[in-house]
Formats: sequence, structure tokens, C-alpha cells
Amino acid sequence: MVANNGHEPPAIDAICLDIDDTLIDFTGSARSALSVLIGSVVLGSADLWPTWQRVTEEHSAMVVAGELDYDAMRHARTKAFLSDLGSDLDDDAVAALEDRRLAQMSRAWRPFPDVLPCLDWLRAAGLRLAAVTNASGPRQRERLASLGLERFFDAVISAGELGAAKPDPVIFHTACAELDVAPANTAHIGDRLDLDAHGARDAGLHGIWLDRDHTHPPTPGVPVIDTLADLPALLVTEYRTPTVTSTSTLPIPRR
Ligand SMILES: [Mg+2]
Repeated sequence: MVANNGHEPPAIDAICLDIDDTLIDFTGSARSALSVLIGSVVLGSADLWPTWQRVTEEHSAMVVAGELDYDAMRHARTKAFLSDLGSDLDDDAVAALEDRRLAQMSRAWRPFPDVLPCLDWLRAAGLRLAAVTNASGPRQRERLASLGLERFFDAVISAGELGAAKPDPVIFHTACAELDVAPANTAHIGDRLDLDAHGARDAGLHGIWLDRDHTHPPTPGVPVIDTLADLPALLVTEYRTPTVTSTSTLPIPRR
């Protein structure tokens, strides 16, 4: 197919997808589970989510740097968070609270409603798929499996296992190598403009931003969708995929 402007659209053979807040409502489940910790030490309705996010970013960086393993990080993060709230608990109490928080999160995990139809379509379109996450590999595989999403993916690439996190080009190039595709023939979609869309673009892939919150700041050179239901149409109109063209009969999922 040749686009109207006479230029051949880029061929896409593979799609990488971020996991947290792209496939799985991570923020929703993590926010609800935080009540386990907050309820144990403070009264009131202050929003402590930004504090949790800050402490999480600090501790996640230590995992990527190889200074902590994931389980040690969870313990240290919860201890630091509670300490920030003025509650210095002993290790056993911290461990018990963290286990309860994680159990609560697991109960709340769910994929966004646009995920299954989109993954079905991508597979039917003949695309190879990788999940690319900055979190721990075993945990993310567990989550994908428990939600029935694992079967869609040819590879799961995690920063925890690789020692390189998005936006480092290494993680994107590792995903492409595992899928046996060239970065120029791969698109990566995620909810973070900086880590996902810009990171992928700077690594030579096609970065696509999933802006579920409809914030839409100007993003020159980066396509934006606010639901995965719009990904098939974007791929059909702006790219070439192995078995789908704009005249294909493969239906595009509706919102
Ligand atoms: Mg994400």
C-alpha cells in the first residue's frame, strides 16, 4: 500500500506493550491497596499516593542498579514509607503489612477493558508481541498469567531481569532481538510519554503514547491514542502490518 502522500508507510512486524497502566490497572490496584498501610498508622484522608510514588521511584532505582532484589525492595520501601509517616515499625510488623498490601493488590488487579480485543486483533494481524516492563519479571509474568494475558506474548522483557530500564535503548533492543525483528519494524506503546513513547522513538522504534488520562500535551512526532481500542486503526492507517491493510476484512474492534 502507498499512502496518499506518495511515501510508503513504515512496515511493522512486532508490537511491544508496557504492562503497568497500559495493560493492567496498576495505579488503581496500588492506590486501593495503600489503604492497608495508611490505615495502620494514620487517621484522616490526606492523599499519600504522591509520597508512595516518590518512595517507590527511589527504591525501584536501587533494583535496576542491582543494589536490592525485588523482595528486599518491597520491604525497604514499605518501611521507608511508614517511617515518612512517622511510624518506625520493626521488621516483622513491616513484613506483615507489606504482605497484606500485596495480597490486597493482587485481588484488585484487572486488565483495562480495551486490552483483550486489542491483543486479539494484534495477533490476528500477524504481529509478534512483547511485554516490556520496568518492574520485576517474575511478578509481571505472574500477573499476566493470572489475568489470562500471558498467552498473547512471544516475550516478556523486564528491567528487573535485564538490569536496564526504559527509556534505556538496551531494553527496547533486547525486546526486538527476542522477537527477531528490527527496531525500525517495531512499535512500542505505553502510558508514559517519556519512558515509553520517547524512549522507544529514541531507540529507533516507533513510539506510540497511550494517554489514558487525556492530558494530551503537544507531542511532535509521537502518535497519541487514549485507548487501546484505537491502536488497530492507527496501525492500519499509518503503518503496514503483516496481514492487514486498510482494505482488509479483519474487523477493527469498536470502543
Ligand atoms: Mg506503565
